[in-house]
Amino acid sequence: DSKDYDSEVNSVCPFCGVGCQVSLKVKDNKVKFVEGINGPANEGRLCVKGRFGFDYIHHEHRLTKPLIRREDAPPKGLNVDPGKWGEVFREATWDEALDAAANGLKDIGGKGVAGFGSAKCTNEEAYLFQKFIRQGFGHNNVDHCTRLCHASSVAALMENVGSGAVTATFNEIENADVAIVIGANPVENHPVAATYFKQFTKRGGKLIVMDPRGQALKRFASHMLQFRPGADVSMLNAIMHVIVEEKLYDQQYIDAYTENWEAEKRHLADFSPERMSKICGIDAEMLRDVARTFAGAKAGMIFWGMGVSQHIHGTDNSRCLISLALMTGQVGRPGAGLHPLRGQNNVQGASDAGLIPMFLPDYQPVGDEGVRNAFQEIWQEGTIDPNRGLTVTEILDAVHAGDIHGMYILGENPAMSDPDVEHARDALAKLKHLVVQDIFITETANYADVILPASAFAEKTGTVTNTNRQVQMGRPAVTPPGDAKEDWWITVELAKRIGVGWDYTHPSEVFAEMGKSMKSLANITWDRLEAENAVTYPSLSADDPGQPIVFADGFPRPDGRARFTPANVIAPDESPDADYPMILTTGRQLEHWHTGSMTRRSKVLDAVEPEANCSLHPSTLRKLDVVPGGLVRLTTRRGSITIMAREDRAVAPDMVFLPFAFVEAAANILTNPAVDPYGKIPEFKFAAVKVEKA
Ligand code: SF4
Repeated sequence: DSKDYDSEVNSVCPFCGVGCQVSLKVKDNKVKFVEGINGPANEGRLCVKGRFGFDYIHHEHRLTKPLIRREDAPPKGLNVDPGKWGEVFREATWDEALDAAANGLKDIGGKGVAGFGSAKCTNEEAYLFQKFIRQGFGHNNVDHCTRLCHASSVAALMENVGSGAVTATFNEIENADVAIVIGANPVENHPVAATYFKQFTKRGGKLIVMDPRGQALKRFASHMLQFRPGADVSMLNAIMHVIVEEKLYDQQYIDAYTENWEAEKRHLADFSPERMSKICGIDAEMLRDVARTFAGAKAGMIFWGMGVSQHIHGTDNSRCLISLALMTGQVGRPGAGLHPLRGQNNVQGASDAGLIPMFLPDYQPVGDEGVRNAFQEIWQEGTIDPNRGLTVTEILDAVHAGDIHGMYILGENPAMSDPDVEHARDALAKLKHLVVQDIFITETANYADVILPASAFAEKTGTVTNTNRQVQMGRPAVTPPGDAKEDWWITVELAKRIGVGWDYTHPSEVFAEMGKSMKSLANITWDRLEAENAVTYPSLSADDPGQPIVFADGFPRPDGRARFTPANVIAPDESPDADYPMILTTGRQLEHWHTGSMTRRSKVLDAVEPEANCSLHPSTLRKLDVVPGGLVRLTTRRGSITIMAREDRAVAPDMVFLPFAFVEAAANILTNPAVDPYGKIPEFKFAAVKVEKA
């Protein structure tokens, strides 16, 4: 009964970066159902995850007590049955568990300790986490899942535009007449944003979709470019070549707001569509038509996802997209802009809050003495290390190398999410002391020495920042189960025990401290967020709801100029060969969220998509003599899994698409850990694979 609730609380959906605002309907300390409300990004809309994916918060597997590994526990591994965790862990009081967690980290100390924070947490929790590592241990070995998501996009944006966030909200598409969506599948991964994209085409907007896989936006597209996996740079350079050759660029904009144009122009001379067509697999005429269409737009936007970023040339892919927008003057106006669609609900905010090894909050470089002094004045204790820290994959390599022995992991699940995941699992097993803070015994918590029971989104207070730069207020609707606590509280208690003098009593105090060092939060106060629910940064005054479009008058770079950085074609790290003749690419499905710890515990979502699956073209299935629903074995140089095969005409005959939410056939057993040299992001989107009938 939709009327059967006692109270309703407004908050933010915990899944994707769209950041839909929700109303949680509560009875007897349980969320009964969820409705969309009029947030700036969703205007009442929700997708299936936001509407039905809330019941995991009441799942019987929720952690309700702190746990400590038993002395007689079996060797560390994936051996904890959620129903029989008592064989591996014993319950502890908070004092005992916090002491054990903090003492273990303190005993190792200094650079022997590293931290993974989480984009599932609030801005305040992310800020506290990076401060915990930086102030408590004196180094910058702290990172989170942005490294696996848009790190290469941020590297290119910081380099060429001077800011890592989007230049325009996705809702600005309503003012555009042409939009490119490349390497993103918004219908499955940013479903509410996709509804705006579809409406844009219904109003006559031209949608150019570029994706090696076919996808649901295809039928709304004016141009569908199903290019060869990994050939992004050749395709984008060819499009830009046409814009130069036919002089379709915006010389006035280029002269006023950019640098390095002549070098870019010279570089593009080698990338004719006729030559590049052989590499990217798209007809030269189609490339020319796309160039003319985008260059002819009155207002054009470019959206991209992890199909662009998760390559060893991910930064080069983004450099091309930035150059394309700059040469056509498509930045800083209504309906124009660059928009990497951020993955997790708070990956933008966690990155802004400094949960990255090379930047303090607001992307202020750790190597800058003035920046460090300013933070030290605010923090008062400790010395900030001037050297950049290690990234997610580098930290796990350092564990194997014997340089890191202790970790504090909050809400991340590297035992599922890292490339070549057996390497990550071996690293976790090698740690002398692992503290995991989460709401379930995740695959990563299987390796923990101490597990600290944390809170789900509907149980906590805090702000989150979506893909649109909208800072939004999350509110508690129910109390955490058992003795579980809010994450900020746990980090503060650990900090006190490692000897840092923190005395925060509420997230609002943390937010106020963030405002002292983060210009992005200027004019955004806790009280405003309580009253208004969302403010877009930058906000120019106390009554400005925020700027959906930035860089109308230049860029936060030297001389206010954005930069063209030419990109060369670089082949993927592995090429298909006789032993591994096909291409593996990984991604998400509509119903499941990342490593599945939440959505696979949600009844409706699990009922719709209960089984590990991969997608293959019908001709490939025929060749393998496998019927849809039959089993295949996928093998790469890292490992092998057996999985149910689906028939999918959207996948090219030499490709296999594999979602990464399923532990029983973990995609990352297969993926390639090679990383982009700038963003340090792994090449999740391309590995050479052998596919056989199982
Ligand atoms: Fe949640 Fe994203 Fe769906 Fe909105 S689109 S309801 S934020 S998962």
